[in-house]
Amino acid sequence: MDKGIRKRIDVKSLTLPELMAEMTSIGEKGFRARQMYEWMHVKLARDFEGMTNLSKALREECRQRYTYTALHAVRVQESKIDGTKKFLFELSDGNLVESVWMQYKHGNSVCISSQVGCRMGCGFCASTLGGLERNLTPAEMLDQVYAITLLTGERVSNVVVMGIGEPLDNYDNLLTFIRMLTDEDGLHISQRNVTVSTCGLVPRMKLLAREKLQITLALSLHATTDEKRMQLMPIAKRYPIEELMEACAYYFEETGRRITLEYSLIRGVNDSERDAERLCRLARPLRCHINLIPVNPVKERDFTRPDADRIRAFQNILEKNRINGSIRREMGRDIDGACGQLRNAAGVSKSAKDAG
Ligand code: SAH
Repeated sequence: MDKGIRKRIDVKSLTLPELMAEMTSIGEKGFRARQMYEWMHVKLARDFEGMTNLSKALREECRQRYTYTALHAVRVQESKIDGTKKFLFELSDGNLVESVWMQYKHGNSVCISSQVGCRMGCGFCASTLGGLERNLTPAEMLDQVYAITLLTGERVSNVVVMGIGEPLDNYDNLLTFIRMLTDEDGLHISQRNVTVSTCGLVPRMKLLAREKLQITLALSLHATTDEKRMQLMPIAKRYPIEELMEACAYYFEETGRRITLEYSLIRGVNDSERDAERLCRLARPLRCHINLIPVNPVKERDFTRPDADRIRAFQNILEKNRINGSIRREMGRDIDGACGQLRNAAGVSKSAKDAG
């Protein structure tokens, strides 16, 4: 399947068994694959040159045969409030993606992008304004975690796939990424510390359920009637809320993992008491957690967040119904701009700029 643009073998996207087969095919022993895998995924080498226990000849051969990706940080913004850092990374073809580093009491969390742009068209989201450019390879998703680990000098314990892109629209690469990220031969991040957020691609949610991973699936619901959801999210025309809820129940049944529902509060659109009550009715049978996110204003869009009283009233209704909900703690408010805005401000990508 599609592994993004790839003329030569993208060696950092190969799983360990695949790398072993590849090394055997060029006449190397299996343990060389292990050494190289450790350089790439544990020691986080930026190129073949630094892989000092491989012979010079092998390093040279690898350089000629394979693509070795590494990200280049073109901008870093740091919050003065809580230390959150937002990175704008350049990929090898000049495209740009964003990642965010957040420090919590329980560890460091990285939010990564899964695509360059997005084709889902959600009305409040900055990432989708220029459409989809291309999928990220497994290596390019790993690279965001690796680059941030190197730049901050700190271990990453949680990864959320909530940056630019719809992860389930890049399904195969996402799965390879998760397997490699949580692999005991790599960074070995616990699957329980990985969250994937989707706008609700029902068939892919079911497929993911059958993988029986221990990751958390978050569903971007944002509305409690099909009519309203269709106004905000074009994908709602394809999958009605009833089907989404069935897919969530199926995910829980197959994996034992509770779903998170994400709900962006938008003033005058989805913040009424009736909305809150309907949200409770949807959440109850799933016993899921609800993340309320006051919408981040995007300059190209006309949405604003409800005032504090309205948000409180909404939350009270969830509490009264004993629905487990929290307002997403806002990290890096002073640097924020909703996800996708940093990339938009930079002109989307170098290649797009060159093309005029
Ligand atoms: N495509 C995935 C992941 C990307 S965004 C998805 O749709 O879930 C992660 C979350 O941020 C989603 O819930 C998304 O709907 C939400 N989001 C996007 N733009 C936002 C904005 N301007 N304000 C608040 N939440 C936003």
